[in-house]
Amino acid sequence: MAEERPLRVAHLYPDLMNLYGDRGNVIALRRRLEWHGIPYELVGVAPGDAVDLRSFDLIFFGGGQDREQRLVCQDFGCRFPALSQTRAENIRRAAAEGVAILAVCGGYQLLGRYYRTAEGEMMPGLEVLDAWTEGGSERLIGDVVAEASPALVPTAPRPTLVGFENHSGRTFLGPKAAPLARVLVGAGNNGQDGTEGAFQGSVFGTYLHGSLLPKNPWFADLLIERALAHKTGSMVRLQPLDDRLEAQAHEAAIANAMRKRGRAARA
Ligand code: GLN
Repeated sequence: MAEERPLRVAHLYPDLMNLYGDRGNVIALRRRLEWHGIPYELVGVAPGDAVDLRSFDLIFFGGGQDREQRLVCQDFGCRFPALSQTRAENIRRAAAEGVAILAVCGGYQLLGRYYRTAEGEMMPGLEVLDAWTEGGSERLIGDVVAEASPALVPTAPRPTLVGFENHSGRTFLGPKAAPLARVLVGAGNNGQDGTEGAFQGSVFGTYLHGSLLPKNPWFADLLIERALAHKTGSMVRLQPLDDRLEAQAHEAAIANAMRKRGRAARA
């Protein structure tokens, strides 16, 4: 009998797109896959690599500043002798086939329709999220606490996400994308409508660095479940792990964000 293939995880542009510990998300995914007893294979994808992203179950895409985003945009448009599609088309097909994708900040912005920088430069996005981003003159920086949206977790109590944001881009969502979470502390997508992040099918975008997944283990497992669903073709529920340490880190991040907010309000 053929041996079952491992879960395939791609880390997109690990050297270019890696801000504020984004790489820690991949470390957290690896550790949790090990703890869950799920064999996996991890592949880093650099610009120009001729890799078919549809052969993966989970794709992680970290944050980067405008300069790195520009280089990634060039790679999206590259044509590879070995592939009949551009990278952009390849990622679009992966998204349409239900590959789980998590993108943070600069990566998130490039999954939408476009990112227009504060200087007016247009970067076309992959359009796998119904969202667009306009650069602003002031950066949105600080700790974030956000509650999972009812679209993601239908029944209360809904889990929270904690992280750190630092972006000039303001992201707005169209009707096909749902917010990932509702901001309790921080700015989130745009500092105006109270939303943080977005999801559409199994494509997830967020402004939360920090890194995100080590301190939000419920969300890491949700992604792994989506990846397993892509691999097996059916819904899989993971067994809970002993996440006492992760829960402490999560609670400490909430307490820290609340304390700083209180201090700012008094100043
Ligand atoms: N260049 C983008 C912005 O400032 C993304 C920054 C990031 O990934 N932290 O909006």
